[in-house]
Amino acid sequence: MPTRRVHLKFDQYLWEHGVILDDTYGDSVHKRLDKGLSKYGPDHQFMDYYHTEEGIRYWLDNMPETMSQDRKTDYMRIALGHMVLDEMAYRRPDLNEDDLIKAAYRSFIQRGYHRKYYKALG
Ligand SMILES: [Zn+2]
Repeated sequence: MPTRRVHLKFDQYLWEHGVILDDTYGDSVHKRLDKGLSKYGPDHQFMDYYHTEEGIRYWLDNMPETMSQDRKTDYMRIALGHMVLDEMAYRRPDLNEDDLIKAAYRSFIQRGYHRKYYKALG
């Protein structure tokens, strides 16, 4: 399972490829997604509601309104990246860190996650 350091490295990769804004730091996103770790263990990615797009949108819906839509869009993409990275690490335990990040990024793009937007309700 990827550590926080590897998740942040993937965020950096997203930034380098223009997927997220340069001043968005994703640590709080990873904290939210991995909160269920103590409860569910390594299988958290299959069991935690916050490890789904719906769960992340719910989380963002309840963030302060003062947070910009752009920031929430970045958080959305970072969260989706987190899920793809967890999934890829599970499916391809043979990959080294750099190859894992590249493979996860390819999958992220194939799914169109770089074009996901967060829009406020109402
Ligand atoms: Zn996770």
